[in-house]
Amino acid sequence: MEDNDDIEFKDVQESDDDKNLIQVCPVCGSPDLYYEAGGVEGLYHCKYCGYIGGFVIDANPRMMKLIRDEYESKARISE
Ligand SMILES: [Zn+2]
Repeated sequence: MEDNDDIEFKDVQESDDDKNLIQVCPVCGSPDLYYEAGGVEGLYHCKYCGYIGGFVIDANPRMMKLIRDEYESKARISE
């Protein structure tokens, strides 16, 4: 028998964070969205980065921070 125990799994622990899903911007991770219901279909507007679209991410606070960090680091590089 081969021993595959050396594969490392990152335990995804269930915490309150994972049940606390909030809608955040897919570009910058900001929860500062407002939904515009007018027209054929509603669109989300992000107050932080100006994103407009029908797609947002259901994220827990940890995911939100990851997206935000990613966005911030990209913004820093392009400066
Ligand atoms: Zn945004």
